[in-house]
Amino acid sequence: MKILVINAGSSSLKYQLIDMTTEGVIAKGNCERIGTPESSITHNTADGKKFKYDVYFPTHTEAFEKLVEVLTTGEGKVVDDLSEISAVGHRIVQGGKYFSESVLVTDEVKKIISSISDLAPLHNPAHIQAIEACQKVLDKSVPQIVVFDTAFHQTMPPKAYMYALPYEYYEKYQIRKYGFHGTSHRFVTARYAELTGSDITTKKIVTCHLGNGSSISAVDGGKCVDTTMGFTPLDGLIMGTRSGAVDPSVVLYIMKNQNLTPDEMNDLLNKKSGFLGLSGTTSDSRDLIKAADEGSVPAQIAVRMLRYQIKKYIGAFAAAMGGLDAVVFTGGIGENSDSLREEVCTDMEFFGLKIDLDKNQKLNRGEGKISADDSKIEAWIIPTNEELLIARDTKKIVEGLNK
Ligand code: ADP
Repeated sequence: MKILVINAGSSSLKYQLIDMTTEGVIAKGNCERIGTPESSITHNTADGKKFKYDVYFPTHTEAFEKLVEVLTTGEGKVVDDLSEISAVGHRIVQGGKYFSESVLVTDEVKKIISSISDLAPLHNPAHIQAIEACQKVLDKSVPQIVVFDTAFHQTMPPKAYMYALPYEYYEKYQIRKYGFHGTSHRFVTARYAELTGSDITTKKIVTCHLGNGSSISAVDGGKCVDTTMGFTPLDGLIMGTRSGAVDPSVVLYIMKNQNLTPDEMNDLLNKKSGFLGLSGTTSDSRDLIKAADEGSVPAQIAVRMLRYQIKKYIGAFAAAMGGLDAVVFTGGIGENSDSLREEVCTDMEFFGLKIDLDKNQKLNRGEGKISADDSKIEAWIIPTNEELLIARDTKKIVEGLNK
């Protein structure tokens, strides 16, 4: 079975074609800058070949038509016929309170995803456009499945997801913590159970997804009980361009003193803050570390801030769960930055966590346990694979349909 995984943004459509017999990636790429004169497709095949096609596509539908052409014809061709693609799995950012698991796309499902577009204005409308593009271009019989970033966090109790605002705003606008990166937190949780051969229902773990966007989750017995991102992905940790948590009064103070509109303030918090805002030069953690090493004080502060915040959340979530068995690091920073993992886990012996510095370095960019043998709490690096989990969910639902 071959499954196409789609991750659509407002001007892009990332894809991976996965062979579910081997779970290997057949091809992957991105239709970029949809709706602009610079639109193009990058397409990489499993044999290491890279292609770039400069083609104009005004909307997601034309982009998807072009993608189908790339997959089935020319030098980058990876399938003889479109009918080889058994199903499509879509990543959806916001499922609100409506979806706690992945589902088959129906008219009703589309309607609900659209109805909560207010909660993810940059993402949900684009997801619907991508679903409709697939429906137009592929045979009607090809099932489409939606997998939500928020679904894994739906198990949080009200004490974790509510904000202490007048209750009417929860009722009227559904203002609450939703959490994001759920597919990644779920993937590494399952992989931890697999790698350790343990019964996940008996484990308390903290999963740290650290990339351009970062979030940490408390996972008790395989279920998420708390997470750092909130109503939107802006909350929690300092990120590439997002501020993470700030005192809400600061937002009002800046708006007032700088005469900013809500949209301008939103832009400042989401696109001009975080590593970029502090350093003034970069949102990329590698460049930030380089700037810090070269003596930039704000970059040094930004590097320290993320590590300090992670440490703090590990402690907070251990307390919330009444114990901790393992900390898992994943995402571009979590998987690749041995210095971050080292600093986060240093001076945590009092707490039961002791890192093995040698393993931490040797396993960098790999997968495995990096805590010392006598550490009560384990620490792991587990590379995430959100696309694979989307493909697995898709396969499971499609097989259920065929029964
Ligand atoms: P996204 O959240 O967009 O999926 P990734 O998970 O790929 O992003 O993470 C990207 C981040 O990972 C970037 O900030 C990048 O600098 C960081 N990263 C990659 N390699 C390293 C490294 N060796 N040391 C520190 N950070 C790294």
